[in-house]
Amino acid sequence: MLDYVYERLTELFPEMVENRRYFHKYPELSFKEVNTPKKIAEYLQELGIEVRTNVGGRGVVGKIVGGKSGKTVAIRADFDGLPVQDEKEVSYKSQIPGVMHACGHDAHTAILLTVARVLHEYRESLSGNVVLIHQFAEEVSPGGAKAMIEDDCLDGVDVIFGTHLWSTVPVGEVKYGIGHFMASSDRFEIEVKGKGGHGASPHETIDSIVVGATIVKEIQQIVSRNINPLKPAVVSVGTFHAGETFNVIADHAKITGTVRTLDTSVQELIIDRLEKIVKGTCESVGAEYKLKYEKGYPPVFNHEAETVFLADCAKKVVGTAKVNAMEPLMGGEDFAYYLQKVPGTFFITGAGNAKKDIVYPHHHPKFDIDEDSMLIAAKVFVTSVIEYLQKN
Ligand code: MN
Repeated sequence: MLDYVYERLTELFPEMVENRRYFHKYPELSFKEVNTPKKIAEYLQELGIEVRTNVGGRGVVGKIVGGKSGKTVAIRADFDGLPVQDEKEVSYKSQIPGVMHACGHDAHTAILLTVARVLHEYRESLSGNVVLIHQFAEEVSPGGAKAMIEDDCLDGVDVIFGTHLWSTVPVGEVKYGIGHFMASSDRFEIEVKGKGGHGASPHETIDSIVVGATIVKEIQQIVSRNINPLKPAVVSVGTFHAGETFNVIADHAKITGTVRTLDTSVQELIIDRLEKIVKGTCESVGAEYKLKYEKGYPPVFNHEAETVFLADCAKKVVGTAKVNAMEPLMGGEDFAYYLQKVPGTFFITGAGNAKKDIVYPHHHPKFDIDEDSMLIAAKVFVTSVIEYLQKN
């Protein structure tokens, strides 16, 4: 049974590549996707798959009803691009200035479309149903997942699977992780209001650059001095803006950064320390401040039984030696929300290939994936659907 389906996927691989390249050429930013969901819906509708559009805003949900009754498996693929200028020299380079599929969501989408096609062709033999979740806006909090769940995309779903192609894992490998697998990703913004003045008269000013620099340095000690070394955490400052000219003391400084954790108690501790450091540093010199802390996606928590099951499916596709556990990633993913509602797992499909110069990390202007990874991910998905419905 699986052999037939694998063969069909291989036959349709050129179509998968063509679809991926189309999406790659015409990426759309998060919450601004118009053409992409339209194309997805058209593709599924042409096959005769029941489709619901504008789910939670811009999402597309398809449903394949199997020939026999049974459980329902959902597969999710995200479809938004990033505000990055494509610097690759390839025929499928982004045609939209300043927008690029620099995270592989184009490929996730193409994989799910072909998986849908094959499972639809094969529907009479399925002992249950398949829900195809095409999600908008993964890259920008609050993301599309939450809104799509609120709009009932998980109705009747028993289990969910999702993958991310990963350019720093070699193509041919599949990685999984039980429990916490990806981090929560939060954003903070600190505004320091000092008192400007002449560079020659520092005693008459409150130097917001010195105050801001002190804050940047102090918050580096949260992870090194306050967090249990066995618990992962990141506090990174991404921007620091202050001052206009060399001989004037700046009265304003603005700092932004991100916090990543795998554990809510660590997250709460960081927020508390951040507030105390900003308050203490500013008050000690009479500066005013504003601190804005926005919680992003919660951590991705993979359920044990479903993760073991998925890893077994992947072993059928790429062989036991190529399927291995992976340490958690400190990146964020709104797949976390689905896993708070139904059991399932989010896994990594290797998509890097040094021989083809596919070595650039995600969100890089030269990011690309080895397209062979798409066929692997597609096979793992169909295996998981067929096997899960047979067993349950
Ligand atoms: Mn991504």
